[in-house]
Amino acid sequence: MAGQQLRYDGQTVVVTGAGGGLGKAYAVFFASRGANVVVNDLGGSFNGLGGSSSMADLVVKEITQSGGKAVANYDDVVNGESIIKTAIDNFGRIDILINNAGILRDISFKNMKDQDWDLIMKVHVIGAYKCARAAWPYMRKQKYGRVINTSSAAGLFGSFGQCNYSAAKLSQVGFTETLAKEGRKYNILCNVIAPIAGSRLTATVMPPEVLEVLKPEYVVPLVAVLAHTSSDESGAIFEVGGGRVAKMRWERAKGALLRADDSFTPGALLKKWADVGDFSKPSHPEGPANFMELLEDAQKLP
Ligand code: NAD
Repeated sequence: MAGQQLRYDGQTVVVTGAGGGLGKAYAVFFASRGANVVVNDLGGSFNGLGGSSSMADLVVKEITQSGGKAVANYDDVVNGESIIKTAIDNFGRIDILINNAGILRDISFKNMKDQDWDLIMKVHVIGAYKCARAAWPYMRKQKYGRVINTSSAAGLFGSFGQCNYSAAKLSQVGFTETLAKEGRKYNILCNVIAPIAGSRLTATVMPPEVLEVLKPEYVVPLVAVLAHTSSDESGAIFEVGGGRVAKMRWERAKGALLRADDSFTPGALLKKWADVGDFSKPSHPEGPANFMELLEDAQKLP
């Protein structure tokens, strides 16, 4: 497909949180390439308060005025069934789900309130689950689906003042890896992106000249490729922003082995501590089976 214009004619895309930022860029793009788009947005504040229909309506208006097909949905993402029902009622199918809706409740761990934790879990973790859960039976039945979940560098690396958000965002990696495994035989491909883009979520923490090189539109090509029928990519984690796209993966250090016939003690482990963190010749595990192989190999050694 390289060099060809990717199109999505006859397919239905649900983009959650599509009233602004990255979600809007996805929605406008897919509509411009022939897809039917459900523009979901609760229309609340960046920290998850309030709601209004205007954000989704404005995006739908922009799409339809350019000749595209889109309908608005104003549900909270925790009402995933209702969001997917909007796709089925209006377009008869759901092919691509982009779990993108998000909020921030940044605060140091010391000052975190249950509400800050719970709201973040609700939108990012439960919301992504509910939407995927509602879309899954349709995708299985039609033996076709594309799911793109949204993580964050804050989840992959941690970020001061964002422990709620970091926990929720790394959850999307594990969630996606399992969906990718369960979806593969039904041609449901699932990937997770850690984007960086100028939006109302980043406007307060980045200067305008930086935001200028991080347009949400620069994340679109990756999402477009992953969502396309020609893609075979599944279970991958991508870092994407400002036009740069790269896969991320786990890395394992050399490691140490304590033997049952050795002195199996914390002191013995401390003697080998340098090996525990020796990344000079790393391996790149892809699952637990790989760990068992390592153990078996190690046991064979004299
Ligand atoms: P944004 O605030 O511009 O967009 C998020 C949208 O989600 C908003 O329009 C909001 O109204 C909507 N939304 C919030 N809660 C909702 C709910 N419960 N139900 C339905 N809609 C809801 O922010 P963005 O930067 O475009 O973020 C999009 C996604 O990318 C988020 O998941 C965010 O965590 C993630 N992300 C963004 C960045 C970045 O640099 N912008 C970095 C890492 C991750």
